Amino acid sequence: MIQEATRRSSQELMDLEDKYGAHNYHPLPVVLSRGEGVFVWDVEGNRYYDFLSAYSAVNQGHCHPRIIGALKEQAEKLTLTSRAFYNDQLGVYEKFITSYFGYDKVLPMNTGVEAVETAMKLCKKWAYKVKGIERYKAKIVFVTGNFHGRTQAVISASVDEGATADFGPYLPGIELIPYNDLAALEQALKDPHVAGFLVEPIQGEAGVFVPDEGYLKKARELCKAANVLFIADEVQTGVARTGKLLATCGNCDCQSGCENRYEIRPDILILGKALSGGVFPVSAVLADDEIMLTMKPGDHGSTFGGNPLACAVAIEALKVIRDEKLAENANHLGNLFRERMRNMIEKTDLVTLVRGKGLLNAIVINDSPDSHTAWDICVALKENGLLAKPTHGNIIRFAPPLVMTEEQLHECCDIIEKTILNFEV
Ligand SMILES: *Cc1c(COP(=O)(O)O)cnc(C)c1O
Repeated sequence: MIQEATRRSSQELMDLEDKYGAHNYHPLPVVLSRGEGVFVWDVEGNRYYDFLSAYSAVNQGHCHPRIIGALKEQAEKLTLTSRAFYNDQLGVYEKFITSYFGYDKVLPMNTGVEAVETAMKLCKKWAYKVKGIERYKAKIVFVTGNFHGRTQAVISASVDEGATADFGPYLPGIELIPYNDLAALEQALKDPHVAGFLVEPIQGEAGVFVPDEGYLKKARELCKAANVLFIADEVQTGVARTGKLLATCGNCDCQSGCENRYEIRPDILILGKALSGGVFPVSAVLADDEIMLTMKPGDHGSTFGGNPLACAVAIEALKVIRDEKLAENANHLGNLFRERMRNMIEKTDLVTLVRGKGLLNAIVINDSPDSHTAWDICVALKENGLLAKPTHGNIIRFAPPLVMTEEQLHECCDIIEKTILNFEV
């Protein structure tokens, strides 16, 4: 089978997906067969810098030897027990991840969207069991431009036409307010039925929108005053991506185990993606006892959630973040990257701005969101050996693995600059 696959050309493989797969994605025309660190290779053997990192799941770099080692070692012993029985990895992982992020308890799931769903359910349980909201009257506040995944409950909070059209009816109990708008939040929190405020600290899919300085901190205070849970979706921003362990972290240098680590400590923290270094779907919901212990046996679960393979992989993936100081590296390289992009912007009318934090950045193309320009630039970048993907039409996100070196980053900026400056609309 492996040999058969390696004999096929990129075109043949794309044709297979087109013919036999659902058409729910529109990938860039490149077919990858190998990855190592910051690089991926296509089936013809061409090498590319990966500037998407599987939407920030591969923060630790492709096929990190330590994470793959943990995967292999555990795969040969035990992969799945379900939660009908105990396994010898789960408790060890739970102790590790709760002390790493500083919470009483963790609820393990698989994909990011499942963790968001779990947080929503947990918030409602808490609303009825602790806060005392009248049964089935609880509301959760979301912000416009959010992306939290693709399930029915989660798209009910989305305003993205593509994600929602023709999927109604939607879940009730969801309130939408504008992002980065404290007055709107203050107003929404006046409703005594509001139980939670669920937000991405930096909006990833929307196009890397960083809120105003102080927004999150003030939002957190408003929630506390209203006895409303502040729920942070750090599925994309977490695990060192934005130059800190979490985007909600303060500015101290620690990589975990620090008392005043949080600038704003979420009541519920949602993680996924890089929690496994992109090796395996592993997500988690973290909270303290007052919230987490409202869930009783039978209330919620997942066959694969907390499986021994996931536990072994996630422990190693988090150790790699700390041992290789990837948050510091993301912070340092992010500053360099934005500086290089700002220099480039002075030389072209094609790009209007660069924004982001750490190694989660985006450039905005000077064309309408309905144009193909950003897509065409990404195709040109691909021809020059760098893979990135447009988000929302005229925005290109740049999010390489955090294991990149300074020299590699400069080479990548050279590729981006050369491509943009030579690009003809
Ligand atoms: C990717 C993402 C999700 C969904 O994760 P999946 O693993 O694709 O289900 C949720 N929230 C945010 C902020 C994300 O970026």
